[in-house]
Amino acid sequence: MKRILVTGGNGLVGSCFNTEEKREKYTVWNSKYCDLRDKTLVEKKLKGKWYDGIIHTAAKVGGVGGNMKYKGEFFYDNIMMNTNVIETARKEGIENLVVFLSTCVFPNDVEYPLTEKKIHLGPPHFSNDAYAYAKRMADIQIRAYREQYGLNYKSVIPTNIYGINDNFDIENGHVIPSLIHKCFIARETNTPLSIWGSGKPLREFIYNKDVAKITEWVLENYNEDEPIILSTSEEISIKEVVDIIVELMNFKGKVKWDTDKPDGQFRKPSDNSKIKNYLPNFKFTPLYNGLKGTINWFESNYENIRK
Ligand code: GDP
Repeated sequence: MKRILVTGGNGLVGSCFNTEEKREKYTVWNSKYCDLRDKTLVEKKLKGKWYDGIIHTAAKVGGVGGNMKYKGEFFYDNIMMNTNVIETARKEGIENLVVFLSTCVFPNDVEYPLTEKKIHLGPPHFSNDAYAYAKRMADIQIRAYREQYGLNYKSVIPTNIYGINDNFDIENGHVIPSLIHKCFIARETNTPLSIWGSGKPLREFIYNKDVAKITEWVLENYNEDEPIILSTSEEISIKEVVDIIVELMNFKGKVKWDTDKPDGQFRKPSDNSKIKNYLPNFKFTPLYNGLKGTINWFESNYENIRK
């Protein structure tokens, strides 16, 4: 493929395509350039552009805080963006597209590990159901388009992504960027670092650059109805993540556990055998190294980052 459009250019994954070396092949849109909730605008901007494929990363996302507080927005923004991008891509004759789902789409009550076959087997966790249902509809939409129009549209399901260019908003962001930001403030102001929940929940983290690399491969090579899970399949507790961040940020103060705050889902272990089969030699960035890179970037760019 020669010309690929990436939406969500300011986001965690989209920003990985917004570099000098990728400029020739990848055109990157951000929300300022085109509000994807606006169908007429999407049609106008995509008209006659002849992209070979689209990597649709744009989404309204947040951690457990944002997901619980803004359910209406999370539903509306995501369902509109996905519907408009997928339908307009079809109308413009774009034959390849990848859309991003999330492990939140899975049922709360499900037999682990999560596999690509289990998305629709029951209601999602209440903390992020609006987001999850909107994302599930993207899966339905691309399957319908594959069937009716024969297009190579497909989806990926990454586990918890982190990395540089994240949103470091403390109240609404995901756990890793929130913790890095909170640890920074605690260190600078000599105050305790306060962590939400019990620290016991388990998550699988994946570095944004790894996600971007695999997604390039998915766009050009993967062609199945079923999504593909992007995961290291290595679970780690929130407590262990806190320990690494505290060490890397050289924080010597007190750590407090705020158990009035939500734990969210206890765990959501995923089965990565599909991606492992396709890409047996892919080396995932170890969490420690990814966190080190993210923290260095955060400390050097503090003034200008999203927070
Ligand atoms: P989730 O995987 O969709 O639940 O997304 P999160 O990135 O929000 O991860 C949530 C887990 O991290 C929960 O177990 C939270 O209790 C825990 N956690 C601890 N401190 C924080 C924090 O400051 N922000 C967030 N978002 N989660 C935190």
